[in-house]
Amino acid sequence: MKLLSIKEISGLEPDGRSVTVKGWVRTKRAVKSAVFLEVNDGSRLSNIQCVFSTEEGTAPELAAELARAGTGASVAIEGRLVASPAAGQKVEVQATSLRVIGEAPAETYPLQKKAHSLEFLREIAHLRPRTNTFGAVARVRNRMAFSVHEFYQARGFNYVHTPLITASDCEGAGAMFQVTTLDLDRIAKSGEPVDYNKDFFGKPSFLTVSGQLNVETYAQALSRVYTFGPTFRAENSNTSRHLSEFWMIEPEVAFAELSDNMELAEDFLKHLVRTALEDCAEDLAFFDERIQKGLVEGLRAVLTKPFAHMTYTEAMKVLEANAGEFEVKPYWGLDLMSEHEKFLCEKIASGPLFLTDYPKEIKSFYMKRNDDGKTVRAMDLLVPRFGEIIGGSEREYRLDVLLELMKEKGLKEKDYTWYLDLRRFGTTPHSGFGLGFERLLLYVTGMANIRDVIPFPRAPRLADF
Ligand code: ATP
Ligand code: MN
Repeated sequence: MKLLSIKEISGLEPDGRSVTVKGWVRTKRAVKSAVFLEVNDGSRLSNIQCVFSTEEGTAPELAAELARAGTGASVAIEGRLVASPAAGQKVEVQATSLRVIGEAPAETYPLQKKAHSLEFLREIAHLRPRTNTFGAVARVRNRMAFSVHEFYQARGFNYVHTPLITASDCEGAGAMFQVTTLDLDRIAKSGEPVDYNKDFFGKPSFLTVSGQLNVETYAQALSRVYTFGPTFRAENSNTSRHLSEFWMIEPEVAFAELSDNMELAEDFLKHLVRTALEDCAEDLAFFDERIQKGLVEGLRAVLTKPFAHMTYTEAMKVLEANAGEFEVKPYWGLDLMSEHEKFLCEKIASGPLFLTDYPKEIKSFYMKRNDDGKTVRAMDLLVPRFGEIIGGSEREYRLDVLLELMKEKGLKEKDYTWYLDLRRFGTTPHSGFGLGFERLLLYVTGMANIRDVIPFPRAPRLADF
């Protein structure tokens, strides 16, 4: 491709060579002897400055184009690449010609030069990638997604594509979106009972809440596997940490115990943080300055020391001793709220914290039961600012114990025959976890609301665009 991006042009030597810049005008500024257009094409955070000299007058044609080149207009600019006298940029373009490709009338274009609130920008999700903040989020998101694959591919993991439509319920009904081709309107009017035999799959089916059960089958053949795909949760939680549609990375490793699982999770998170610091430095510096002071230093610190570990029971003692700090009173058996998780990370561990061995009542049926009969080999990785970023466990690989756990949770054996087969034929200890991709992005960008780290957020009563 001959077309050069602004990032590529900005990396060239300022030797007076001819260049063509294509992008969108961010700002236009006129001084006595020149007009400055700051142009951005999303290839990096910084704009490229294009200078139109007006010292010897301006040709009427150019003057007309300059008048049309307001904020948001798409332009093609030709000129010479020279060293820039301005601070903070190596090069600029001594422009010789300007073509406005598409105007963005100032009266109607919503993204004017002033700063806009994140709430306002959420309402124009189709235009927000043109802002510094959302451009930076998109680039970091892209880099992190690729880094996920780099991490696992370098360690011999196979990427497995698990289905999005499922007829088995991994973590509890109620939180699932039903998938159907039945004519609900007609059925409601007819008063007939719903006949799922007539539905597309011949039985009730749903969007998946997790690829784990499916990916476990491949772990029991290929040993090291992972999924990375969208998952769906219909829980009615209108928080800054929950989406109805989010992306999850789920590695699963045969023969791995909980300690292996935690090592993998720590290496994984550190790898992603390191990549962000190294490869997204310009964007992270922006987040540090504009979104969350101290972000970069905090991320660097994460790399310098091992993560802390505590059992749920130990953590609960700490929480109970500080009960006055919380809205929800802590007690053994409580499913921790974000306020408890944040307290443990921020006040006790001063960084990421693995909590292990949760009460079996608040965890899923497939987690390995401990000998105490009360807790399971679960691990959550909690981080400052929002709490849980990873949830995982060693899986119950003993058929008889798994059946008992399922019975306690009221799950029917017949709904899980293929899953139980993994325990019937060549069963092995195995472990895995799920990292919420958008939670990771909150972590590395310092953004506060999960709706701002995915292009088009889906949440209760929110499915625009
Ligand atoms: P939470 O307690 O925070 O609601 P969870 O325990 O229900 O999370 P898991 O079922 O353990 O979540 O899912 C694994 C990971 O997926 C979580 O650690 C989190 O990073 C992410 N995650 C879970 N639910 C959501 C959601 N609604 N939106 C975005 N990410 C989520
Ligand atoms: Mn969890």
